[in-house]
Amino acid sequence: MKASAYLIPTAKEDPQDAVVASHKLMMRAGLVRKSAAGLYSYLPLGLRILKKIEGIVRSEMDLAGALEFQLPILTPSEIWKESGRWDKMGKEMFRLKDRHDNESCLGPTHEESFCVLVKPMVRSYKDLPINVYQIHTKFRDEIRPRFGVIRSREFTMKDAYSFHLDDESLDKTYQTMRKTYRRIFAGMGLSTIPVQADSGNMGGSASEEFMVVSPIGEETLTICPSCQYSGNIEKTPVILNPKSSKQPFVGSEKIHTPAKKTITEVAEFLKTKEENLLKAVALWADGTYVLVFLEGDRELNENKLKNHLGCNELRPMGPKEMETLGLVPGFIGPGFPKSVNLKVIIDSLIDWNFAYISGANEVDYHTSGIQISKFFKDDEVSKIDVSQAIEGDPCPNCGTGLTAEKGIEVGHIFKLGQKYSKAFDITVLNDKGKSTTTTMGCYGIGVNRCMATVIEQCNDDKGIYWPVSIAPFTVCLVSIAKNPEDIAKIESIYKALVAAGIEVLWDDRDLGPGFKFKDSELIGFPIRLTLGKGFLEKGEITILDRKSMVEETVPFTTNEDLVGKLQNQIQALHETLKKEVEQAGI
Ligand code: ATP
Ligand code: MG
Repeated sequence: MKASAYLIPTAKEDPQDAVVASHKLMMRAGLVRKSAAGLYSYLPLGLRILKKIEGIVRSEMDLAGALEFQLPILTPSEIWKESGRWDKMGKEMFRLKDRHDNESCLGPTHEESFCVLVKPMVRSYKDLPINVYQIHTKFRDEIRPRFGVIRSREFTMKDAYSFHLDDESLDKTYQTMRKTYRRIFAGMGLSTIPVQADSGNMGGSASEEFMVVSPIGEETLTICPSCQYSGNIEKTPVILNPKSSKQPFVGSEKIHTPAKKTITEVAEFLKTKEENLLKAVALWADGTYVLVFLEGDRELNENKLKNHLGCNELRPMGPKEMETLGLVPGFIGPGFPKSVNLKVIIDSLIDWNFAYISGANEVDYHTSGIQISKFFKDDEVSKIDVSQAIEGDPCPNCGTGLTAEKGIEVGHIFKLGQKYSKAFDITVLNDKGKSTTTTMGCYGIGVNRCMATVIEQCNDDKGIYWPVSIAPFTVCLVSIAKNPEDIAKIESIYKALVAAGIEVLWDDRDLGPGFKFKDSELIGFPIRLTLGKGFLEKGEITILDRKSMVEETVPFTTNEDLVGKLQNQIQALHETLKKEVEQAGI
C-alpha cells in the first residue's frame, strides 16, 4: 500500500475529551474518529487492526470447534419477555418501535436470540454439545461512555453460546473456552488473569472474567500471592473473623456529635478508630426498604447485597422515605424504630457482643456501648457477608493476605446453567429417549476493547508499538527520494516486499523525513525500513524495531537479500508471540 493513496490523518495534539492513552493515541494515529457520545467510526488503518483481532478470535474459536453465525442486531421484545429480561434490563437496553408499533431492542447480548435459533436444530443428545458464536455489533446505552472504545455504546463483541446435555459436558466446553480465551488474548499480545466474577443478571453459577492489569482498569481484582486465587472484588468473599483484639471506646454513653455525620468525621471527633463505629446504610431494593449495618471501616458491596436480595435495582433511600420510616439520616443506630417494612441485614464481620458507637437516632447524637445482640434476635435479621474486600484481607482459599490490582475486563465466560434452556424449553432426547432440558454456557470478548487495551499496554512517549499479529501493516517503508531514477529503485524494493507477502506501507508522501518518522512511530508499525540518503549514496538501509527503538544499519546487496532479512525479523516477532500463546494455553 502506498501512503500517497491511503489515508493517514494523524494529529499532533491530544483530543480534549481523551483522558487515557489508548483513546488519545487511537485518535491521534488516525485509527478512529468520534461520531457521537460512545460512537466511533473506524478509519482504514484502525479497521485493519480490528479485523486482525477478529481474525485471531475467529481462528481460535473455529479451532475449538465453535460454529460461526451472524444474527440480526435488532431483536424483538417477545423473546426478551420470554426470558424475563425485558423488564430486568435497565436503561442500557436501547428499545425502539418499528412502523408497525412492534417493540424491539438493539441487542446488548444475544442469549435469547441464539436460544430461539438453536432450539429447533437440536433434538437428540447426538446433536450436542454445540457451541455457536458470532462476531457482531452490540449496543448498550451506557450511562457514561468513556475511555474511547473501552466503554462505548456501540461495539463489536464475539459472543458464543454452548448447549449441553449435562453439566459434565458444559464443564468440558467451559474449560476449553477458558484455554481458548487465554490463547486468543496472548495471540494479540495481552497477558490476562482469569478472575472469579459475579454473574450479574446473566444468571448461572461459575463465571470468570479475563482481566488485563492496568492502572486505568475500572475493575478491582484481588489476587493471592500464595495460591491460585484471583477474584473480582465484587465477588471476593470476606472470611475475616471478628477481631478479638479490638478495644471498645471508653466515654460517656450519649455523645453530642454536632454536625458529625460521616464515619470519618465522628471517628476523628471522638479520636477513635473507624472500626469501632457502626455504619448504617439505608437502601431501597425493588420496592423493599433495607437497612444494612457494617463495621465503620468497611464499605458495602452492593453486588453481594443484590445477589442476596435477588433484586435488580438498588438505590440509597431518599430523605422523605427515611423520615416515613423514622430513620434519622446520618444518625441511624440499632435502636431505630423497628418496622415490618424494613429488612435488617447485619454484615458477618460484625461482632455481636462488641460495644460499638452508633448513631443515637437523634440529630447530632451518637451512643457508645452498643451491642448488636441486645437489639436483634438471631432469627430476626440476616447475617451475611456484604462488605467489600480490601487489600490484606485473607485469601478465601488459603488465608494469605490478598493484594489488589486494577484491571480491564476484556472477556467473560459463564456457566449459565438452565436459566435460558428452561425459559425457552430447549430439550433433547437423551440416550434412553427421555426428554431432557439442556444446560448452557456463554462466552464474550470485547473486540474493540481488546484493541484499546493492547494500546494501553504497548505505548511510549512516541506512540503505539503494535504486536506483530495485529499491526495495521508489519513494515513501514520510509523513502526520501526526489528523482525518478531513485524512486524507481525504491519502488522495485517495495514490489519485492509485496511479492514476498510482507504487509508493507510505503510512505511515499511528499513530506519531510522527520514527519514521516514521527507518523510511523505514532501509528506503531513493528518494523520501519528507511531508504533515504544513506541508501542512495552509500547503499545502506536502516531497519528500526519499533518496540525497542533499536536501529540497525545494514548494507544493501540485493532485493532478495533484503526481503530475506526482513522475513527473518518478522518471523522472530511471530515466534515470540507464539511462545506466549503456547504458555497461555496451558
Ligand atoms: P462491563 O462490566 O465492562 O460493563 P460487562 O460485564 O457488562 O462489561 P459482558 O456482558 O461480560 O460485559 O460482555 C462481554 C465483553 O464485552 C466484556 O468482557 C467487554 O470486553 C465487552 N464490553 C462490554 N461492554 C462494553 C462496552 N460498553 N464497550 C466496549 N466493550 C464492552
Ligand atoms: Mg462481564
